[in-house]
Amino acid sequence: MTPVLVINSGSSSFKYQLLDMDTERTLASGLVERIGEPIGVARHTVHATPVDAGEGSPTFLDATRTRELPIPDHTAGFAVMLDAFASHGPSLADTPPVAVGHRVVHGGARFFEPTLITPLVEINIDELSVLAPLHNPANLAGIVAARTAFPEVPHVAVFDTAFHQTLSPAAYTYAIDTEIAASHRIRRYGFHGTSHKFVSEAAAAFLGRPLGELKQIVFHLGNGASVTAIDGGRSIDTSMGFTPLEGLVMGTRSGDIDPAVLFQLERRAGMSVDDLDDLLNKRSGLLGLAGSNDLRDIRAAMERGEPRALLAFEVYVHRLRAYAGAYLAQLGGADVISFTAGVGENAPRVRAEALGTLGFAGVEIDHERNESAERGIRVISTDASAVTVLVVPTDEELEIARQTLSVARP
Ligand code: AMP
Repeated sequence: MTPVLVINSGSSSFKYQLLDMDTERTLASGLVERIGEPIGVARHTVHATPVDAGEGSPTFLDATRTRELPIPDHTAGFAVMLDAFASHGPSLADTPPVAVGHRVVHGGARFFEPTLITPLVEINIDELSVLAPLHNPANLAGIVAARTAFPEVPHVAVFDTAFHQTLSPAAYTYAIDTEIAASHRIRRYGFHGTSHKFVSEAAAAFLGRPLGELKQIVFHLGNGASVTAIDGGRSIDTSMGFTPLEGLVMGTRSGDIDPAVLFQLERRAGMSVDDLDDLLNKRSGLLGLAGSNDLRDIRAAMERGEPRALLAFEVYVHRLRAYAGAYLAQLGGADVISFTAGVGENAPRVRAEALGTLGFAGVEIDHERNESAERGIRVISTDASAVTVLVVPTDEELEIARQTLSVARP
């Protein structure tokens, strides 16, 4: 057994997953949340071995335990997590993790691969908080707490931005004054890199084709959403930019918008920078258009004929099409287009509408395959389609664990 612990730390919560990298199976996972509030919540799930229920699909008899108690900070949260492992298993005393992998949102232009965490790397992650004030300090709090809990094992940082460090200057440069841009490190960085890397590699493996030969477009459509053009395994363009606000319409984020809208709202509506940040990041996207950030609610409202839900869906799909076309042009055509994450894996109509006009480019969706409730990686294009269209369930924790092991055990 080769256990690797993966930590995804936010400001008031962290998620964890223990994987056995011999089988790439999740042994346990959990969530510690409401850190710093009067009562915190810790949820620990022990994943059972799959049992074949006879219908062809395995059933997982998982056991989840929940505790409510004050959790003043991340270090206390790690103590609660260790307690859960000790009480409910699997025992970390018997099989301690060989390494701990940490999701870190922003690696700036400095980190382009998974990196062994040293005190200097911690200083660099802290310094990059200038670019990701909400995320990097929270990621660092998790690292510090985890290094206290597991002082003997290597800790590895896996950056959301790293996969996009292959973007050319033409793709990552904003057309603004270069001196201002350079002194404030204003450029496009791209995010969701761990997922885009995982999905593009899984797609190549599934098709039995060398990654280096494939032109791919990956749509990661979750609550946050981004799309990446990948040529031979290298990201050449991606829709998120300086922050995860740019690009597609998301659950609560606007995606692309004319920046002059912000000048107008500041001048005419008296909104402050913080108001605008809140508006575009937390109250826009599907939520701003239709009152819910969840596509399932939008779909239900569409069935009731609610005009704002219909418009929200059209705006969402219109943007997807624009990026599909742009990235086909950047790549000079595509071999594979994949959909992943909550919306990408579960919303056939989004997939069909996003690619529905691309018949001229050799993209042909098979509607029966697209509507199928089958799980797992699967083809949804016709056999005659020149471009293979896939649904690929993403697994960011597994990708972080793989990258962690590649550094911890080179
Ligand atoms: P994620 O960020 O990948 O967890 O995706 C979460 C989002 O996926 C939710 O906010 C929903 O919009 C969407 N989603 C999840 N399940 C479904 C489903 N069965 N049908 C449509 N959308 C879904």
